[in-house]
Amino acid sequence: MKEQIDNLVKLQGIETESNEIRSILSNITQRLDSLSCRLNEFEQTTKDEELRLNDLKKSYVLYKSDVEMNISRLKKSQERLASIKTNKEYQSLLKEIEDVKTINSQIEDQMLECLEQMDDIERVLADRNNEYEKLSEQVNKEKQTIDQETEKNNKRLAELDTEWKKFSGKIDPQLLKTYLMVRDKAGGIAVVPVKDAVCRGCNINIPPQMYNDLQRCDSLKFCPSCQRIIYWKDTN
Ligand SMILES: [Zn+2]
Repeated sequence: MKEQIDNLVKLQGIETESNEIRSILSNITQRLDSLSCRLNEFEQTTKDEELRLNDLKKSYVLYKSDVEMNISRLKKSQERLASIKTNKEYQSLLKEIEDVKTINSQIEDQMLECLEQMDDIERVLADRNNEYEKLSEQVNKEKQTIDQETEKNNKRLAELDTEWKKFSGKIDPQLLKTYLMVRDKAGGIAVVPVKDAVCRGCNINIPPQMYNDLQRCDSLKFCPSCQRIIYWKDTN
C-alpha cells in the first residue's frame, strides 16, 4: 500500500507541476497578445495621422489651384480695364478685382495654416517613427524570450506527460480510478499530505485515531472534511 500511495503522490506532483506550466503558458499567450495590441494601437494612431496629413495635402492643392484660377481671372479683368468705356463699368470691374484679391488673400492664409499643420504632423510622425522602431525592437526581443520560454515549458510538459503515463501504469487500475474521481471532484488536487495532524488540502484537523492509522500507511484514507486522499508526512 505504501508504494501505491507513493506513486499517487508522485502522480499528484506531476499533475501539479503540469498545471503550473499550463498556467505559465497561458500567461505567456496573454503577454504576447498585449504586445501585439500595443504595436497595433501604435500603427493605428500613426495611420490616423498619415490620413490627416494626406487630407491637408489635398486641401492645399485645391487652395493652390483656386488661387491660380483667381490670378488668371485678375489678369483678364485688368486687361479689360483698358477697354472699358463708362465710369460705372470701370468702378464695378475695379470692385470685382478687389473682391477677388481679398478672396485670394484669404485662401493664401488658409494655405499657410495648412502648411503649418502639415509641418506639425510631419514632426509628430518622425518622432513616432523613431518611437516605433524602439518599440518594435523591444517587442521582438520580448517575443524571442517568450518563444524560448514557450519551448522550454512545452518540452517540460511533454516530459511530465511521459512521467504521468509511467507512474499511472504502476498504480492499481481501481486506485487510479478513485484518484481521478477525487481529483475531478476536488478541483484538480486529489492527494494531499497531513502534517501535524492537519490536512494540507483544507487545513482542518484529522481525528486522532485516523491520524494514528494514517502513519501506518496500510490503507487508503480520505480527509473527512475535503474528501481528498491523504497521506502522512513527517513534520520535518
Ligand atoms: Zn482536507
